[in-house]
Amino acid sequence: MDNIYDLIIIGSGPAGMAASIYAQRAMLKTLVLEKGMPGGQVVNTYEVDNYPGIPDITGFELSTKMREHAEKLGIEVKSEEVIELFIDEQIKKIVTPNSEYKAKSIIVCTGARWRKLGIKGEEEYTGRGVSYCATCDGAFFRNKTVAVVGGGDVAVEDAIFLARMCKRVYLLHRRDELRAVKILQDSLLKHDEEKVKILWNTEVKEIIGNSEQVEKISVFNNKTNEESEIEIDGVFVGIGTQPNSGLIKDKVKCDDLGYVITNNSCETSLKGVYAAGDVRQKTLRQIITAAADGATSVYSAERYILENF
Ligand code: NAP
Repeated sequence: MDNIYDLIIIGSGPAGMAASIYAQRAMLKTLVLEKGMPGGQVVNTYEVDNYPGIPDITGFELSTKMREHAEKLGIEVKSEEVIELFIDEQIKKIVTPNSEYKAKSIIVCTGARWRKLGIKGEEEYTGRGVSYCATCDGAFFRNKTVAVVGGGDVAVEDAIFLARMCKRVYLLHRRDELRAVKILQDSLLKHDEEKVKILWNTEVKEIIGNSEQVEKISVFNNKTNEESEIEIDGVFVGIGTQPNSGLIKDKVKCDDLGYVITNNSCETSLKGVYAAGDVRQKTLRQIITAAADGATSVYSAERYILENF
């Protein structure tokens, strides 16, 4: 059993980092495997103002603090992409391009990724005017005109952020009321229409540009069926996320959208396999709920190991 980890955590966003901290404190022999940049989606959040006790912090700073905390406790992290999982047996096998690891339990914290509009021009102009991350790319659009698509927290937060630097921001929402929390709506609506113009019941049909960059979007009003074109320099798509559950979606129970179904203890349909954070089917996907899942899943894994090994 020497080369077998008690726990392997896949992913190092807030769920994975909270799980790492709890696993170190529980003295479980633990490995974190992370595919790319550590930190998860929160790294791209400009301002996090709802994590208790830490007001006014950027997503990057908060995720760095979480990682430093886990490292201080001695967590082992490897930057390797997990490409296959064999998790039916009591000892789980985790395969990366150059190695294979064994563990008594695993926690999947692979998060979610941006959902796409799926319209003409979106793919073609990604990185040339189409972006999914205002905090990453907003600075390229200083004093320019941009459109933000969506009506949730992300789209409204992006529109507020972009209004600080752009000449004009259009917020295009397919319904006539925003889904975003009231505090964000209020802060968006403080801007005059010259700065932030909300186009209700409006959907984007096509993103149009020249051989280099985006020049305009064609939109239609889904109530009046009226079509029009708006000249813009950039389009920020903020229409939600999709789970990164490809690795396990055929191995454990998932819902129709691919989110992993767990109980309140973060247990999946397979023994010794847990899911935490945005990849899990849940009501509220926030940093605090991801961190809570990380803690809960380690508590469950610890009990499972004590009872089964
Ligand atoms: P979301 O809450 O699911 O909102 C997605 C928005 O995009 C909705 O307004 C939806 O319209 C719209 N939409 C979806 N598909 C569309 C399509 N094909 N075309 C046009 N519009 C489309 O997603 P999110 O804003 O990305 O947020 C994800 C999660 O992160 C949420 O749980 C959110 O609360 C959380 N979050 C929290 C904070 C914070 O607390 N500071 C910040 C960021 C994110 P409908 O409204 O018509 O469905």
